[in-house]
Order: sequence, then structure tokens, then C-alpha cells
Amino acid sequence: MSLNAQWTERDLRAVWHPCTQMKDHERLPMVPIRRGRGVWLEDFDGKRYLDAVSSWWVNVLGHANPEINARVKAQLDELEHVILSGFTHRPVIELSERLAELAPPGLGHCFYADSGSAAIEIALKMSFHYWRNCGRPEKRRFLTITNGYHGETLGALSVSDVGLYTDTYRALLLDVIKVPAPDCVGLPREQWETHAETMFAPMEAALAEHADELAAVILEPLIQCAGGMRMYPPGYLRRLREACDRHGVQLIFDEIAVGFGRTGTLFAAEQAGVGPDYLCLSKALTGGYLPLSVVMTTDQVFDAFYDDYERMRAFLHSHSYTGNPLACAAALATLALFERDQVIETNRAKSAAMARASAPLRDHPQVGDVRQTGMVVAIEMVADKATMTPYPWQERRGLKVFQHALSRGALLRPLGSVIYWMPPYVISEEEIAWLGELTAECIEVAT
Ligand code: PLP
Repeated sequence: MSLNAQWTERDLRAVWHPCTQMKDHERLPMVPIRRGRGVWLEDFDGKRYLDAVSSWWVNVLGHANPEINARVKAQLDELEHVILSGFTHRPVIELSERLAELAPPGLGHCFYADSGSAAIEIALKMSFHYWRNCGRPEKRRFLTITNGYHGETLGALSVSDVGLYTDTYRALLLDVIKVPAPDCVGLPREQWETHAETMFAPMEAALAEHADELAAVILEPLIQCAGGMRMYPPGYLRRLREACDRHGVQLIFDEIAVGFGRTGTLFAAEQAGVGPDYLCLSKALTGGYLPLSVVMTTDQVFDAFYDDYERMRAFLHSHSYTGNPLACAAALATLALFERDQVIETNRAKSAAMARASAPLRDHPQVGDVRQTGMVVAIEMVADKATMTPYPWQERRGLKVFQHALSRGALLRPLGSVIYWMPPYVISEEEIAWLGELTAECIEVAT
């Protein structure tokens, strides 16, 4: 029995995997990974896979990055963890200062947690609580756009709109207002801004109608990732910031997936030239090393909670591993590398290489749309190109892509029929070109 087979057998007896129908593994391989180097993962039998999805969008600077490894190891010898209530430590202080320098202006207060979903829960609770502390408890609802995804905990699911994850739990979820998303699937780039302008009308109407009961609007800036890599332009965010201010509603940007360079700028919000009241970050924050998330917010929010204890206005939310020093050290190393290696600038050439490698896929009869924002390319397979008719989800075309890519040595994990590339930024232009050829092959096999 191969080493892969031995580990897989043990795994399937003991591990229940996320986002997985375990019965699929009666016929699908489980891939036991022994080690990672740069963009490559290697299994126990020595086969290598290009990690084209950055291991769920977290790994931006490569696996086993020497600088991040060194910083985490050094931190390990100093302090592995300490309670963050009443106590603090150097990495969390330095990280908070650095994030405040890098984020859109005015977000000077960092509240930490350990997953993206937890950051969303915090932003929702904080906004709800902010209005209570301001004497406006009736402002307790949330507004979002369709097709969003913000995580799997109940609050995060409530403001999400991907039926695959939300439908089963509907009875447990908050009553959230949703308006049609401005996504530009199938539209040429030059029409994106006009489309988004038109699509702002329902958002404006919902804000006007519900302002008195709304705490905040929440959305993913520029790319709705788990909803199918649906993209829209910055103008929508500019209008949204202005309208939220006009209607007295707070704004939450979920940059958990798009933060740290994915859209071509360090934060997607930069492209709109606006900042939110709450900025949620996680995933690439630690270079994909360790679980850490943060909600960054303003003086105005912080001050609404700052009072004598007896007045019971404090934000008493907590998680055991809040602001873990090892994770903060990984984040500091990651941010130092962004600066040293000029990652945002270097990515421009890689983003252009991704555009070149994906362009030929547009001509395939079963490809309805190829879209790109920064370091994300999405290729949408369709049953009928003229009408953009999707494949029935039961046909699991994406799974066929996944299987073929795996056999050829790549980790591609489509969202339904949407294949996407979201590789670590250390990918080379040759590897990007290969990914283009491999994707063409996968589409042939799957359609
Ligand atoms: N928000 C967005 C935009 C995400 O893409 C995700 C995860 O994919 C989350 C929140 C939830 O993050 P986590 O999986 O760390 O809970």
C-alpha cells in the first residue's frame, strides 16, 4: 500500500472534512500533503500540485516561506500565547500600529479574533451595539447585496446569500435585507461602471426606506468570492459610502478574501478612495500561516463604547486565542515582505501574465465569461454560451475540473462551474502560462 493510501485510509476513518460530502471519497482521492514549498504542495508519494487557489485564498507568499518561518520560530521561543484581556504583548501592539498605517485612514483601533467568520460576527455585533450605545436601539438590522459570502457562523451566514450554505439553516438566521448585487458577469470591462451605477438604484432605495432600522451595510468590496468570483467596479463603493453617510448607516467592508493585494491594491477599498466604519481582515493577513482575524474601526465607534464599567457599554466579546502572538508574528513578517519585495508592484506583471494566459479560454464554446480583477481570474463554464445558461449543478462540472487538474498536478477547486485562479503571489510567469494550458485541458474534459 502506498504512503498516500495509508494516510488516506487513516484520515477517512477519523477526520470529518469541511465543505465536503464525505461519501464522495468512496471514489474521489483524498490527497495527504506532506509538505509545501512556494506555490507547490507535495503528497506522501512525492507527487506535486501547484496550489492555484492559495489553499482557500490564504497563502500569498508561498508555503514554507523562509522569512515567515524564521519569525514564527523566533516568536515561539519568546511567547506562544497569552490572554489578551488585562495583558498584551509586543507582536499584537506592533501589528496593530502597522495595520493602522496601511489601512484606509481613520481605522485606528484593532479588535482581534481567530477566523474570518468570527471577525464578521464582531463587526455585526459591534455595529448593533454601537447604535444601542448611541441611544438608537431600533437601528438593529443589516443590509447586503445578493450572492455575498461572509462565513459559516450564524451571523455571518445571515448576511450571506449563497444558497448552498444558507438554505438549510434559514430558520436560524437573522432577517437581513438584500438588494441585487452589481456584479458584471458577462459584461465587457468598459461597461462595468455604467452597469454598477444603474445597479446602485436598489441600494439607494433600500437605504432610504430602511435607514431608521439599519445598523450597517455589509459587503465584499470588488469581488464576491465564494458567490462565484463575481466582480464589480469601485464606483459602487464610492456611491455606497456617500449614501451610507447621508442616511446615517454604518458600512462594513469584508476584505477577508480580497485584502492584502488580491485586487491589485493592498486593500480593495483603496481603489474607491473610501474607507468603511469596520474593515474585516483575515486569511492572507498571516501569509496563510496561522488563524488570525481583525476588525479595524474608527475613533467614533471606539468612543461610543468607552465609558465607566458600571454603565455597561463595553464590548465584552472574546475568543480564547484572540491576538495570538505566533499569528501576529506571522502577520508582521508577511507585511514586512510586502514592503521589502514590493509585492503590489511586482504583482502587476503577474496579473498581466494571468490576463494573457486566460485570454484564449474566452473562445471556448463552453466558456461564457472570463473576468479578472488583479490577482484573481474567473472562467465561467456554461451549457449555452449565447444565453449564458449555466450547467445544472447536479452535473458537477467543477468536480471534473478538480479531478483532472489533480491528475495533472494542480489544485484547482472551482466554485460550481466557475474555475478560478487565485495563486500565491510567488507564482512565476511560466507557472501561470502552464496553468492556462492546463485549464484549457480541464475545460475540454469537463464539458
Ligand atoms: N468573508 C469572506 C469574504 C470569505 O471569503 C470568507 C471565507 O472564505 C469568510 C468571510 C469566512 O472566513 P473563515 O473561513 O476564516 O471563517
